[in-house]
Amino acid sequence: SNEPFDLRLPTPGCYLDPEKAGMDSDALFKGMTEHLFFTLGKLATSASPHDLYMALSYAVKDRLMTRYLASQEVIRKKPQKTVAYLSAEFLIGPQLSNNLLNLGITKEAEDALKRFGIESLSTILEVEEEPGLGNGGLGRLAACYMESLASLQVPAVGYGIRYEFGIFNQLIRDGWQVEVTDKWLKGGWPWELPQPDESCFVGFGGRTESYRDDKGKYRSRWVPSEHAIGVPHDVPVLGYRVNTCDRLRLWRADATESFDFYAFNIGDYYGAVEEKVASETLSKVLYPNDGTDEGRRLRLKQQHFFVSCSLQDMLRSLEKRSIPVTEFANHWTVQLNDTHPAIAVAELMRLLIDQYQIGWDKAWNITTSSVAYTNHTLLPEALEKWDLSLFSDLLPRHLEIIYEINWRFLQQLRLRYPGDDKILQKLSIIDEEGSKSVRMAHLATIGAHHINGVAALHSDLIKRQLLPEFAELWPEKFTNVTNGVTPRRWVALANPSLSNLLEKEVGPDWITNMELLKKLENKKDDANFLQEFEETKLRGKRKLASFIHTKTGILVDPSSLFDVQVKRIHQYKRQHLNALQIIAQYLRIKNGTSNYKAPRTVIFGGKAAPGYFMAKLIIRFINGIADVVNSDPDMEGLLRVVFLPDYNVKLGEIVYPATDLSEQISTAGKEASGTGNMKFAMNGALTIGTLDGANVELRDLVKKENFFLFGKTESEIMHLKNNSYSPKTFIEKCPELQEVIRLIEIGHFSNGDKELFKPLLNSLTGNDPFFVMADFEDYLNKQDEVSNFWNNKKAWNKMALLNTARSGYFSSDRSIREYCESIWKVSPMPVEITCDIEEIT
Ligand code: PLP
Repeated sequence: SNEPFDLRLPTPGCYLDPEKAGMDSDALFKGMTEHLFFTLGKLATSASPHDLYMALSYAVKDRLMTRYLASQEVIRKKPQKTVAYLSAEFLIGPQLSNNLLNLGITKEAEDALKRFGIESLSTILEVEEEPGLGNGGLGRLAACYMESLASLQVPAVGYGIRYEFGIFNQLIRDGWQVEVTDKWLKGGWPWELPQPDESCFVGFGGRTESYRDDKGKYRSRWVPSEHAIGVPHDVPVLGYRVNTCDRLRLWRADATESFDFYAFNIGDYYGAVEEKVASETLSKVLYPNDGTDEGRRLRLKQQHFFVSCSLQDMLRSLEKRSIPVTEFANHWTVQLNDTHPAIAVAELMRLLIDQYQIGWDKAWNITTSSVAYTNHTLLPEALEKWDLSLFSDLLPRHLEIIYEINWRFLQQLRLRYPGDDKILQKLSIIDEEGSKSVRMAHLATIGAHHINGVAALHSDLIKRQLLPEFAELWPEKFTNVTNGVTPRRWVALANPSLSNLLEKEVGPDWITNMELLKKLENKKDDANFLQEFEETKLRGKRKLASFIHTKTGILVDPSSLFDVQVKRIHQYKRQHLNALQIIAQYLRIKNGTSNYKAPRTVIFGGKAAPGYFMAKLIIRFINGIADVVNSDPDMEGLLRVVFLPDYNVKLGEIVYPATDLSEQISTAGKEASGTGNMKFAMNGALTIGTLDGANVELRDLVKKENFFLFGKTESEIMHLKNNSYSPKTFIEKCPELQEVIRLIEIGHFSNGDKELFKPLLNSLTGNDPFFVMADFEDYLNKQDEVSNFWNNKKAWNKMALLNTARSGYFSSDRSIREYCESIWKVSPMPVEITCDIEEIT
C-alpha cells in the first residue's frame, strides 16, 4: 500500500503545439493522461474503457479546436456566404471514429491506447453512446450533408435542437417493441461546447399591439406572455483531411430565470418553478415520429424555438461584423430540411420588420432571396398543418405576418387566374376546410426561392401531384437534388476491409472522389479480384453474425445469403411484404416443394413510432415468424429470421457492409428517396426493389441487369387506385398467397392465437392501402431469381462489384456540390492555418 502511484503527470499545453498540432501518438497519450487526471479525476491505472473513451475523445476534440477556431476566423475576416442548414433532426452517430478518420490519426490513437493496455481501438469505440437526435433518413441526411459541407470546405452551420432525450431505445419483449428513454447524456458527452454567452431569447403566446414609432407611423409588435432562452451547444464538424471545421449549433432551452422570485416570496413554490419547468421541457425530447405530422403544441413550440434562435444568431453575426442586415441574403443561405423549420419564413420577416424596422417589400425580398425548402414527403399524413387557433395562441404575430404574406400572394393569383376561386382556396396558406389550419408546405413554397425534392422521381411527383399549380406559377423555383451519403462514414469507417481493397485498386482518392470507383469495372471478370471482393463481404458478415449472436442468441451462418431490410417500420416500406414472402419460403420447405438452394438469413431492423399500432404489429409479426422458423429443425441450414433490436447509426455501420441483398420494396411513389439503398449499394449489396425514390436512379446507374426489379410502377399503382383496387383479385390468382394467409389465420405464428394478427390481415385483404397483395407474386418470383443468382457466385460477385463501382453518384459530396451551384450559390473557402497560434485566437 506504500507503493507510489504512477500519476503520469502531463505536460500542459502539448495540444496547443500548432506546428505538429500534437497529432503523434506521444502527444495523444499525453493529452489522454491529462484529461483522465484533470478533466475526469481518474488515475490512468484504474481507468475503465468508458474513462479512456472520454479521455481520448477530449484529446481528439482538443485537436479539432485549432481548425474550428480558424474556420470561424476566416469568415470573420473575409465575409462570405455561409450555409445555414436548419433541421429539427441531426442523426450524427458516433463521433470519435469519424473525427479520428477525418484528422488522419486513427493509427496514432491505436498506439496511444496500447500504452493504456488497450489492444484494440474497437473496444473503446464500442462504449460510445450515440446521440439519437433524429428519427431516420431525414436526420441522417442532415448529418451526411454537414460532413460533406466541411469536406468540401464550404462554410456552414447546422442549426437544430439539443434534445435531452433522443429517439427512444428499442427493446423487444415477447416479440413486441418496448420503448425505453434514450439517456444519451448520462455518461457525459465530450463533443460539445456550450456557448452560454451566445444565448438567445425566444417568446411565445401573448398578443400583438399596435403603436406609433418615432416617425409617427403605426406599427405592430408582439408582446409574448412566455419566454425561453436558447443556449447554443456547438459540435465541431471536421471535413475529411482539410482544415475546414464547420459547426453544428444545437439549442438547449433554459428558463429565462431560474425562479420567479415574486411568486417564490409569496410562498407559491410550485408556481415559481412552473415556468422554468415549462421552458426547459422545450428541448427535452425528440418526437419519435417518422413521416407523420404529430400536430402537437409542444412540437410547434420546439420548431419556433430553434428557428428563432438560429435566425437571431445569423442576424447577430452580421451585426458583429458591421454588415448591414439588409445584406442578409448575401451572407446566409438558409436551407429548410422539410417543413419542420418553415416558420423561418414568418420569423425572418418578423425580425426584419419588427426588430430592424425594415419595410415589408425589402424584408420580403431578403427572405425570399435567402430561404430554400427541401420537400421530403408526398404522404398526406406527413404534410404539416397547424390548427389556426393553436397557431394564433402560440405565435400571434407570426399569424398576422402569414396573413399578410397570404393576402399579397392571393392578389397575385387573382391577377393571373381572374374569377378562379378554387385555385385561391387550393393554394392559400390557410386551409379553410373544417377547422382552419396553416399549411406549412405552402408557407415554405411561397417563401422559398427554390423547392427541391430528394430524388428524380420524387421531384417530378412534387411538380405533377403535390404542388402542380405552384409549379405552373413558378416553374423556375422547382428543382431536384438527389440525396447522397458520406463515403467517409459509410464506406471508409464502416467497411475497412473493402476500403483497403479499394485503395489498393484505385488509390486513396476515392474517399473524396467516388467516381474513381468506376475503374473497378475493369476487374469485373477478374476471378482473383472478385474473390478478394467477396472476402471483404465475408468479413463483414462474420462480424454481423457475431453481433446477432450476442444480441439475440440466434446463430446464423455467414455463408448464407444475408437478406436485409433495415429502416423505420412503416406500412409504405412494406416490411410485411417481406414477412409474407418468408412464410411462402417456409411453406415450400415444409411441403418439400422447395428448390431452395440458397440458404438465407433474413434480417430486419427498425423502430416503429410508439403510437403507430400497425407498425408495432408488424414487428410482432416478424418476431412471430422468426420464433417458428428458427425453432423448426426442417429450416436448419436453409432459413433463419432475425429481428435486430434498436436499429441506429452504430448498428447501420455493422449491417450495411454485411449485406448481400438490400430490400427496397416500398410501394412505388411513396418513398421520397431513401438513403439506406445507397449505403447498401456502395458496400456491394444487390438490391431487390421497386421503381421508387432513388431506386430508379440506382437501377439506371448500376444497369438493369445488376438490379432485381419487381412490382407495379407509380402510374400502375395510381391506375389501380383509381379503378377500385381489390386485393382479393390478386389473392385469388395466387394459391401460394392463399396458403400463406391461411397459415397466419390459423394462428401458426402466434401460438394458436387467431386474433393477434387479424388487424394486419384485415388491412391486407380489405383495402390494402399499400398494394402488398398486388406486388406479392412478382416479388416472390423475383426472390427465386435472386436465389438462382446466389448459386452462381461468380456472377453474383460481378454484379455486386458493379454496384460498388457505379454508385459513386450517391456520394453526398455530389449532392452538396449541386446544392452549392444551383440553389445556394456558395463556393468553397479553404482555411489556412499558420503556425502562429496567436494569429488565429
Ligand atoms: N435509420 C438509420 C439509423 C439510418 O442510418 C438510415 C440510413 O439511411 C435510415 C434510418 C434510413 O433508411 P432508409 O433510407 O432505408 O429508409
